[in-house]
Amino acid sequence: MSERLSCNDNPCLDCGACCATYRVSFYWAEAEVRSLPAHLTDKVNDWYSCMAGTGRPSPRCVALQGSIGGAVACAVYDSRPSPCRELQPGEEKCNKARLRHGLPSVSPEPADQTANRPRAPHPVPA
Ligand code: SF4
Ligand code: SF4
Repeated sequence: MSERLSCNDNPCLDCGACCATYRVSFYWAEAEVRSLPAHLTDKVNDWYSCMAGTGRPSPRCVALQGSIGGAVACAVYDSRPSPCRELQPGEEKCNKARLRHGLPSVSPEPADQTANRPRAPHPVPA
């Protein structure tokens, strides 16, 4: 059985697994709205784009800095698209990604502890 860690220490800070597991796709216009650099996105179809690198068989977002399971950072944190903003530590998709990368699962953080803290796959780079 995998160890379950508390989210109180923000597991995203040394994870990044979701950025190297899924295709991070979004409505193409979101990139313009968020000023996401065009060279960091790939066209999926007439309606959707994805973060470059995440459409591959072995996905890894080009904006992900660092090593999975080590210190990681998002190079476009302020411009990251909606999938990156919506995914919360401890949800099923998170723990599937962590399992894929050999990391222990984490438990969801109680809602009353997330109210005033921005959550994301990983933090603003230093
Ligand atoms: S949301 Fe989950 S998989 Fe993504 S960086 Fe945070 S802990 Fe890792
Ligand atoms: S949070 Fe940043 S590094 Fe991770 S998938 Fe989104 S844009 Fe890429």
